[in-house]
Amino acid sequence: MSATTIVTGLRVLLPGNSLPRPATLTITDGKITAIDETYRTRDTTSDQVKWVDAGERVVIPGVVDAHVHLNEPGRTDWEGFETGTKAAASGGVTCVVDMPLNSIPPTCTVANLELKRAAASNKCHVDVAFWGGVIPGNQDHLSPLVDAGVKGFKCFLIDSGVEEFPCVSESDTRKAMEVLQHSPSTVLLFHAELDSAPSDPKPTQPSTMYSTFLDSRPPKLETDAISLITRLQRSYPSLRCHIVHLSTASEGALSLIREAKSAGLKLTVETCFHYLCLSADDIPSGHPEFKCCPPIREQNNRQLLWEALLDGTIDCVVSDHSPCVTELKKMDEGDIMGAWGGISTLGLGLSLLWTEGSKRGVPVARILEWTSAKTAEHAGLGDVKGQFKVGYDGDFVIWDPDAEFTVTKELLQFKNKLSPYEGMTLRGRVSSTWVRGTRVYDSEEGFGATASGRLL
Ligand SMILES: [Zn+2]
Repeated sequence: MSATTIVTGLRVLLPGNSLPRPATLTITDGKITAIDETYRTRDTTSDQVKWVDAGERVVIPGVVDAHVHLNEPGRTDWEGFETGTKAAASGGVTCVVDMPLNSIPPTCTVANLELKRAAASNKCHVDVAFWGGVIPGNQDHLSPLVDAGVKGFKCFLIDSGVEEFPCVSESDTRKAMEVLQHSPSTVLLFHAELDSAPSDPKPTQPSTMYSTFLDSRPPKLETDAISLITRLQRSYPSLRCHIVHLSTASEGALSLIREAKSAGLKLTVETCFHYLCLSADDIPSGHPEFKCCPPIREQNNRQLLWEALLDGTIDCVVSDHSPCVTELKKMDEGDIMGAWGGISTLGLGLSLLWTEGSKRGVPVARILEWTSAKTAEHAGLGDVKGQFKVGYDGDFVIWDPDAEFTVTKELLQFKNKLSPYEGMTLRGRVSSTWVRGTRVYDSEEGFGATASGRLL
């Protein structure tokens, strides 16, 4: 017996439409099997059919967050598959792609990937895919990891913050690119900060001041890294390269990206909700919850990031959800320099970007293009996720774009409830989240009883 879910509404976001329109999606055994461009009142009495009437609320494709750290196994006190995917579901995210690091072991071999998949098994409330990792000396593990299903590989050009995931040199990177250029479906992701000429620390500046931290990670680190990446990519033009969490919108960085793209290099770029929604000018001293690497920069930079997103220089937006335990965030001391760098966001991204985007006149279709269609494509899921098309997974969110809410600790679903967004009033609220036709979250009834997410 096949399972059917029919979702109908007056405002459904179909591909190619800048505005939502009346439509009905039929989802059979998890896949979209029909799309009618009309709103329907219930026309079946079959109890085999789950009928979902969204009415005036907007029906959007589920968000695909292509950059999260769920930290399990090994640092499960920081986050975990269960809490992380619940947080995702509560914010309309139907698929996350987990980063290879901060779990122990990191996902740098097939054996480690198997450990991660075992740890994730039966705990995930949304679908989960995995990135692998490139570290010095693991080039022989890369092709087997591609065959085992990782969507691509992350590497660091600067200290990653955890000793089991060392950064790579130019020659390590070349070894990895040599191997990966023969795998057309894969992608090499770069943490693009490079400290080519480390400057002396400035001991006179207090470690509790945000500006001390900001000064320690200037835009030049990102620009130098992007320069290296685009230079290397010219030697391996068949390999797609991707810059994770671009923070600087300096002319140097953006022009390197634009030149590479216009030269036909397969380069893609993401930025994060926090760079688009927060600015250094407003960050108080003594608040390490705002610390991430690269740092949140000034208001002017933030404006330029929005422009680069709107003109396509930046392709997509992700959370880089990267929590840790409170002790490591050094909240009591307010020690920004000494604190773990990482911001917790899962569950808030869609509302954050809509709050900021709608102020700028950005239509919801664009928001979903950046957070769903483009991120799905980036993670090799562009033929199953990110849009309402026949044959795609029936992942959808019923969403009220006009509802406002204030971020409180009680509302946060991730494990360590520390967020720079606490107290902020956001626009756009998820009513329910559905993965492959199954409801995984409802704002009134909570989460599904079983963890029905799959490992992709
Ligand atoms: Zn990250």
